Amino acid sequence: MKLTIWGCRGSITTPGIETVRYGGESTCFEILTDENETIIVDAGSGIRRLGNEIARDKTRRKITLLLTHSHWDHLAGFPFFKPAFIPGFTITVCGGDDSPVRVLESLRHQMDPPYFPVDMGAMKAEFVIGCNCAEGCCDHRLPMISPGHRCESIALNHPNGGYGYKFTGKTGRSIVLLTDNELRYRHPGGPDRAAYVDFCRGAELLIYDAQYTEKEYERTISWGHSTFRDALDLGVDAGVKHLAMTHHDPDHSDDDLDRIAAECAEYLASKGAELSWELCREGAEYFV
Ligand SMILES: [Zn+2]
Ligand SMILES: [Zn+2]
Repeated sequence: MKLTIWGCRGSITTPGIETVRYGGESTCFEILTDENETIIVDAGSGIRRLGNEIARDKTRRKITLLLTHSHWDHLAGFPFFKPAFIPGFTITVCGGDDSPVRVLESLRHQMDPPYFPVDMGAMKAEFVIGCNCAEGCCDHRLPMISPGHRCESIALNHPNGGYGYKFTGKTGRSIVLLTDNELRYRHPGGPDRAAYVDFCRGAELLIYDAQYTEKEYERTISWGHSTFRDALDLGVDAGVKHLAMTHHDPDHSDDDLDRIAAECAEYLASKGAELSWELCREGAEYFV
């Protein structure tokens, strides 16, 4: 499988010279399965450029759009997703924090008047709601992906809920994508930390929420995000092969993130822990 980061900024898109190196587009990840099927996780502003690339590629006309939840920073790019306007595309929408019908509604509502000049009726792609897999297999929250692959979900510990996902390819190697998740505060429906350690165990690649420093977390506890230390500790405890930390705070400039990365290295050294890790950068590709 191949994962590409099209957006790893949290909360709001942050263009500008201070965010050039890590990127300012909000959450969007592209996963190509071992059979070259396209799964897009989240429709933050990063989905716009991804959509332009897909629209140019005549071999790609079937897309699965899998949503973690319906907060703006994970939906706001959808009205600018070119394939949705082009007849001949089939877009299967699943995931999110509620039934698949509600998921599609959350995409539609942001285009209702007076919020957007064009309503969803202008989108000429065929939309399929839910995974279209066998009745009852997964509440239609999970995408039907290529033969020999598996997709599993875990509830998020986040205001208004949502889901994190694990994709396992033909080789048995896994990518876990867990953004917008808090480990030290329990939200309704959110599992405890041990459940996340189990879910992430042995993953080849863990993309995990790390929005705050410890100092920032003192005033943002219960807002639904983790700290850098939370992410590193999870990566170590779950024995993942590589951790990439995402959902960068809009107020963290490139220089801030460099400083934070140095502090992360010091933290791991102080624990005597070994972990391959980095901060997510827009445009980065991973082969799993
Ligand atoms: Zn978010
Ligand atoms: Zn959120």
